[in-house]
Amino acid sequence: MRQPIEGSNQNRSLALPPFHSEIRFDHVSFRYKGEQLSLDDISFTVQAGQSVAFVGRSGSGKSTVLNLITRFYETETGSIFIDGHKLRQISEESLRSQISTVFQDTILFNTTVRENIRQGRLNATDQEVESVAKSAEIHDFIATLPHGYDSQVGEMGGHLSGGQRQRISLARAILHNPTLLLLDEATSALDPATEAAINKTLEKISENCTIISVTHRLTSAVNSDQIFVMDQGKLVERGTHRELLNKKGIYFGLWQEFTLVLAQDALVGEIESKSIDISSTDIDVSPEALAQKVRELEGKLHAGQKESDRLRAINHRWAQLAGTDQLTGLPNKLSFLEAVVPQEMKQAHHDQHGIGFMLVSGDNLGPINERFGRDAGDVIIHNLARILQSVLKGEEQLGHLDGANFAVSLHPASLGRTRSRAEEIRGFVAGQSFAFGQTMLKITASIGITVVACSQLGDTRQATEEAFALLNGALYKAKRMGGNAVASS
Ligand code: ATP
Ligand code: MG
Repeated sequence: MRQPIEGSNQNRSLALPPFHSEIRFDHVSFRYKGEQLSLDDISFTVQAGQSVAFVGRSGSGKSTVLNLITRFYETETGSIFIDGHKLRQISEESLRSQISTVFQDTILFNTTVRENIRQGRLNATDQEVESVAKSAEIHDFIATLPHGYDSQVGEMGGHLSGGQRQRISLARAILHNPTLLLLDEATSALDPATEAAINKTLEKISENCTIISVTHRLTSAVNSDQIFVMDQGKLVERGTHRELLNKKGIYFGLWQEFTLVLAQDALVGEIESKSIDISSTDIDVSPEALAQKVRELEGKLHAGQKESDRLRAINHRWAQLAGTDQLTGLPNKLSFLEAVVPQEMKQAHHDQHGIGFMLVSGDNLGPINERFGRDAGDVIIHNLARILQSVLKGEEQLGHLDGANFAVSLHPASLGRTRSRAEEIRGFVAGQSFAFGQTMLKITASIGITVVACSQLGDTRQATEEAFALLNGALYKAKRMGGNAVASS
């Protein structure tokens, strides 16, 4: 078992000159205790002046990398070098003098806000303290405290939020004027606007400082000089954001999931706010009426909650399949045809079922685009996606192919079942209208359907192509019937 090395003292007398060249991990492995390696043969180099990010799933070893650099723990095999000097030979004091850390669980001392920040550099003037507080986006908050910078942190105890503590800790770290800044989820508790402001500050600091950050918020990693992707203790991918996206590997998957969660939160927020409408004007204030109103609201809340749970579950599956459409957050054409459909077909084959497909297409998108512009078209597509999501059931998979064209798969399915489902969906869409500025847009949907018997399935890819050729034909027929119709191939 590895012990924290504090207190042990072997041959670490070297005073580290100002860090100027590189940090290098050379085949480093490490375990806290037991069998499991927390880091497994990690090698990488960070050049002085770079900003790099470690990303990866929880437990993949990101914080452990930082723990080794700060020497909270000692490497088991392999070595870490700073400017060519073995880390274990560098004196504690000279290491500490050059490194600042901001970790997720920030510890504040039981003294004033000012003294807490001043821990970063004990001889800093009040002015310098305030200036770093501004950089860390916490000055305005401190100014609202009854005693300003002289407020006691201890007295406030729980009054400081996680994000406020993080920012005080960041101010302290900046004041230290480090050559190496280590951030572990340092902006995790912040709202997006504050996070963005702090990222700007960090960019400025990075001109004179090397930054190694660990983050789940991938937006913070996008501009890094290098991103290192950890997975189960191994360093599995490295590169810039662009390079890693192009690679379509683990980082790509994390990115898809991350952006999907953002889109999904926005979507769920929208649905939840819609389902609780208390803005009606003629309010009857009798106890009976109020009690009834409360029951209604509770019912709506419950339904909204169930709906958001359902969306989360479905979206999670999409995230795993990767490839989402930006406007709708749905699987895009590629992932729908390459991943969703083949997988569904295999499942249907296994269960000896048929599988139904629908091509749902909003009517009149063209004329609406022409008359009101592309933004109106986007409103249509966005809303059509939302309507379809709200009307579909758990086993029905939805993809956004292009324009106002959506695909739905349904199984188990027969032609009769698929047709009646398509009629339901068509009726539901036709009843909706939505606002674009002052205009109420209304659309109807035409739907082509087909059913693939999966009992003697050969090549799923070929079967997918054939099914979609049939669907296109059916949709063409439906549109020819004047739109707002369902036709089968
Ligand atoms: P997260 O994103 O959740 O912070 P991480 O990538 O930072 O995760 P680490 O904290 O580096 O992950 O942990 C890597 C592995 O080491 C995990 O399996 C974890 O359980 C284990 N581990 C971490 N800290 C300790 C510890 N103090 N003692 C024992 N095992 C630990
Ligand atoms: Mg961690």
